[in-house]
Amino acid sequence: MTRPAFKRILLKLSGEALMGPGQFGIDPATVDRMAGEIKQAQEAGHEICLVVGGGNIFRGLAASEQGFDRTSADYMGMLATVMNALAVQNALERVGVDTRVLSAIPMASICEPYIRRRAMRHMEKGRIVIFAAGTGNPYFTTDTAAALRAAEMSCDALFKGTSVDGVYDADPKKVKSAKRYDSVTFNRVLTDNLRVMDASAVALCRENEIPIVVFNFRETGNLARVLAGDGIATIVVN
Ligand code: UDP
Repeated sequence: MTRPAFKRILLKLSGEALMGPGQFGIDPATVDRMAGEIKQAQEAGHEICLVVGGGNIFRGLAASEQGFDRTSADYMGMLATVMNALAVQNALERVGVDTRVLSAIPMASICEPYIRRRAMRHMEKGRIVIFAAGTGNPYFTTDTAAALRAAEMSCDALFKGTSVDGVYDADPKKVKSAKRYDSVTFNRVLTDNLRVMDASAVALCRENEIPIVVFNFRETGNLARVLAGDGIATIVVN
């Protein structure tokens, strides 16, 4: 299928994606590979901003189930995203890409606070903006932060890098006959509870008509291919 060209995209990187083959934390080789791919996409003319997750280090909900206070645990999760954002910034700078980390929770000694107009300005100057600390609020996820920032930054699409090549009608790791959608509606994703992003993120994208492109970011060169319209992915639209 021919996909529309997207000039400005928000790329959501989950914490898990940064673990690479590991079970926890940050795998430098994986982060370096992703930085190379992001640079390649930028060189192809795309404007890119990133939201990074924190699940490779800390997840609030899981910690609260083990007795942590939920709000404190969520703040810890948000702090984890800042660590990841710095790792991604570092890797991007090593390949010569100018970046700024903007945190929803001000941390003046480490990065800039999130100010929408400032973020816009950075993007106009050709920098890659990395949004850290999610939405800045507990009880949310970085998926929702990704949808929110994509809307605020007037992105043409939200790219969700995963370990599968799109959205399936059943879990392809468990069901052999599972079929991949080339394109699927937001409503179908919500009613069939398809695992794309959490429901609030999907609803936010639906309301703001921001397509979600789900693709396999574990495969080298895939981001550029999908952006060019000839890679395998699923697009979620109205
Ligand atoms: N988090 C939060 N508010 C936000 C974004 C994230 O409280 O707006 C916390 C939450 O505890 C979450 C953790 O940060 O579990 C890490 O984010 P997430 O689980 O979304 O990361 P990912 O799954 O993408 O690695």
